[in-house]
Amino acid sequence: MARTGATLYGRAGSPSVQGVLEKMSTEQHEVDVVVVGAGFAGLYLLHRCRGLGLSAVAIEVGDDVGGTWYWNRYPGARCDIESLEYSYSFDPDLQQEWQWSERYATQPEILRYLGHVADRFDLRRDIRFGTRVTGATYDEARGRWEVATDGDASFDAQYVVMATGCLSSAMLPDIPGRDDFEGLSLHTGRWPHEPVDLTGMRVGVIGTGSSAIQSIPIIAEQADHLTVFQRTATFAVPAHNRSLDPDEIAAIKGDYDAFRDANRQANAAFGARVPLAGLTMGEMDDDDRRKALDSAWEWGGLPYVGVFTDVLLDPASNEVAAGYVRDRIDEIVTDPEVAARLKPDQVVGCKRLCVDTGYYATYNRPNVSLVDLRETPIEAIDATGIRTTAEHHDLDCIVFATGFDAMTGSILKIDVRGRDGRPLADAWEAGPRTYLGLAVAGFPNLFTVTGPGSPSVLTNMVMSIEQHVELITDTMAHLRDEGLTTIEADESAQDEWVDYVNAVAGLTLFPTCNSWYLGANVPGKTRVFMPLPGFPGYVQQCEQVVADGYRGFALT
Ligand code: FAD
Ligand code: NAP
Repeated sequence: MARTGATLYGRAGSPSVQGVLEKMSTEQHEVDVVVVGAGFAGLYLLHRCRGLGLSAVAIEVGDDVGGTWYWNRYPGARCDIESLEYSYSFDPDLQQEWQWSERYATQPEILRYLGHVADRFDLRRDIRFGTRVTGATYDEARGRWEVATDGDASFDAQYVVMATGCLSSAMLPDIPGRDDFEGLSLHTGRWPHEPVDLTGMRVGVIGTGSSAIQSIPIIAEQADHLTVFQRTATFAVPAHNRSLDPDEIAAIKGDYDAFRDANRQANAAFGARVPLAGLTMGEMDDDDRRKALDSAWEWGGLPYVGVFTDVLLDPASNEVAAGYVRDRIDEIVTDPEVAARLKPDQVVGCKRLCVDTGYYATYNRPNVSLVDLRETPIEAIDATGIRTTAEHHDLDCIVFATGFDAMTGSILKIDVRGRDGRPLADAWEAGPRTYLGLAVAGFPNLFTVTGPGSPSVLTNMVMSIEQHVELITDTMAHLRDEGLTTIEADESAQDEWVDYVNAVAGLTLFPTCNSWYLGANVPGKTRVFMPLPGFPGYVQQCEQVVADGYRGFALT
């Protein structure tokens, strides 16, 4: 069996694309904007910058566009927000012409879509692939950023935009002996590009988050035996995925703008058409509650946490919604002991709800076993498998479905230095601090897309990305048109914003479990609830900040 440590980190840049940029490769390049990343955010940023007459380059460590959808090629990977919503809205022709085939598009289909967007708007010529941004230093005297890469080019830019992704820094757990394993080691977020055939293998999956829940049913079909190592049991609600009905597509495309607007008014910027009652649990009698739960389960997916309006606010309401899922697990899983281990005991929706296709039923297969790490923790990985306190599991392949250093991981891997050479890592030592999730005091002309302190990962990310990209690029155009060069968040506005985000999160049940929203999955990471619940309110606040002459920012 080949050692596959290299596959954990993906492939290097492709020569064909690199060739286009070869001529710019030895010197420092002056641009208005350096965009870091070429996923949904980076692509739209490039397009908007060009449209506004700003020169921009995107730098991407992967060898093609796609971001999340370039890296996460594990079996079963697909979106958990419906395809007709999880797509750009900025171009009417694009959204009319692109045909999604399934309710929840697969990773290859989303990657094709992003490739199509890159070609359609001729974006690749301004993307430097296979190149990692390693540092960004603000030169106060010149009011410019010096951007360093691991290649032989560096960049001198007025603005730097971190489109580095909230879930792009894959996490391998610090399990003793992890690198001693001699079989196939894979991380879901760095899945190889070439097909992986697990047929006949003894596979171990560590983790039971969304990536695991999507891949486990498919791996179980291929593997000789699958052992799932579960630390925290997970709530999963069925996707009820299906081919999209042409009439349904036509109805939405008939007035796509209205559909998009309705979703932007929804708390998480998606799901406006879901037939939910819009009542708190206490406003319903037992019959109505049961009907609401059945109907939310039948609709499927993430909208389940909206079955009552107070699911994420009131522990009693949450317990009813959580209890319903536990009952369903009992119905689906035939072995009562396995069902008991699969039943989560935390608040539903506190960790991101998983959207599954046959996840719980997979445990009825004779070739699947579940190890509860709370009963028998992992002691070590060795050359031939995983040893728990109870036994040794012989494995040919270990799949690390162990998630990401979310929201801050990829930004902090870059040596970002602002005024007085201050590292961003110092400014964020006690957790990330931003104004509007967009800007950081002491770091002029640096923007983060869907950064901590914005609704970000609690929403349909494409809607959040579009809103941020438009705000950021409109701001750059405003500065140019006003003869200004610099924008910087005020420390006091930032302090108030951080307090506000903490206060809003504190009204919810989100901070009650060890989620990645809190940074709890990364040993040593300061626990701060990073995203801001509530998309429409946030957008209004951004609009008001702009209407008030960029209140909370210093423009010079
Ligand atoms: P990304 O797509 O993560 O792109 C960031 C890019 O920056 C990456 O390509 C990375 O290589 C590059 N980069 C990072 N650091 C550097 C550096 N130093 N130098 C150069 N390049 C760098 N969200 C939803 O709303 N709905 C979903 O259904 C959904 N499904 C998801 C499924 C999976 C498996 C995962 C992991 C996430 C999912 N998300 C979903 C969240 C998803 O990340 C966002 O929806 C969206 O794709 C983010 O786009 P982005 O451009 O901001 O970041
Ligand atoms: P995740 O939700 O963070 O799940 C990681 C899993 O690995 C958890 O079960 C975690 O257990 C476990 N784990 C981590 N370290 C471990 C260790 N040392 N020992 C044992 N178990 C360990 O990561 P993810 O599944 O990759 O998903 C991340 C996010 O990406 C999702 O929440 C979602 O936003 C997005 N995503 C979406 C989809 C989709 O459906 N479209 C699919 C994949 C990802 P604990 O819970 O105990 O920490």
